[in-house]
Amino acid sequence: MRRDGRVLDTIGNTPLVELKNLDSGPCRLFVKLENQNPTGSIKDRIGLSMIEAAEREGRIQPGGRLVEATAGNTGLGLALVAAQKGYRLTLVIPDKMAQEKVLHLKALGAEIHITRSDVGKGHPEYYQDIAERLARETGAFYVNQFANPANPYAHEATTGPEIWAQSQQMLDAVVVGVGSGGTLTGLSRYFARVAPHVEMVLADPKGSILVDVVKTGTIQKEAGSWLVEGIGEDFIPPNCDLARVKAAYEIPDAESFFTARELLAKEGILGGSSTGTLLAAALRYCREQTAPKRVVSFVCDSGNKYLSKMYNDFWMFEQGLLERPSHGNLLDLIV
Ligand code: PMP
Repeated sequence: MRRDGRVLDTIGNTPLVELKNLDSGPCRLFVKLENQNPTGSIKDRIGLSMIEAAEREGRIQPGGRLVEATAGNTGLGLALVAAQKGYRLTLVIPDKMAQEKVLHLKALGAEIHITRSDVGKGHPEYYQDIAERLARETGAFYVNQFANPANPYAHEATTGPEIWAQSQQMLDAVVVGVGSGGTLTGLSRYFARVAPHVEMVLADPKGSILVDVVKTGTIQKEAGSWLVEGIGEDFIPPNCDLARVKAAYEIPDAESFFTARELLAKEGILGGSSTGTLLAAALRYCREQTAPKRVVSFVCDSGNKYLSKMYNDFWMFEQGLLERPSHGNLLDLIV
């Protein structure tokens, strides 16, 4: 890794911490604090690796335009790297994503197209199809985290080795979510090579199709909808290799949100919504074990982006996930 003191050098090498105040049965549970990357998520790693791969392949040059479809965090990683290296960036984002992410992206200089969250692949307003079309029509580079090999490679080359070193090579399972599949596939490849006994465990929001695919090998139903951001799928991305997944858990939104709130209350870690899903699955996995195991999962992004959503009792009430809060406070004014 380069070390010349620039912001891009602060991507990766995130801390691994043990969660000692949660009930993890006979297991020891650790999380990697990916919220400590410069834009606050695990996706900074792939923002850097996908842009640098395209540069090495001669596909982009400073001043050129990049287009991507993103839940927000990949956009943030790309926006940071694009701003540092002098690229223009257009992002297509589904409308359920937290406003804080969109405002952060605008502040970083990205051009934003918001589209519908409630349509699937093949629909003209589907975010990935719009991004692909925009890139084709304007001659821009379509980054395409869902198929770009530099996405899983970033995790195979950096996230995996960091986890292996930080766990002092004593590790039994890694719990991940799938958005593009980059984290899962990159870590699967790394551990298949260096420590094939390490089990890959999938955390998936209820409504996503992936748990069924792990359990039966085929897509069983149309995707539903869920409120957790950044993970869960309505298709199997080319970058998503589920072959080494040993256990898979379907986590309802309420369990994800309350687990994230418990992480903050008991461990002092402000994680995002997908962190709640991963941690809920990790805790279920840990409590099912009969022998002590060492398990690693992720704080994928920072909860700062969700303060007005899952950390806000009034928003939780509006979603039907909490009783009406009994006392008013400042947040009353916001909702
Ligand atoms: N958590 C968050 C908050 C994300 O934004 C994403 C990706 N969209 C993920 C997890 C999943 O990572 P991956 O794309 O590597 O599957």
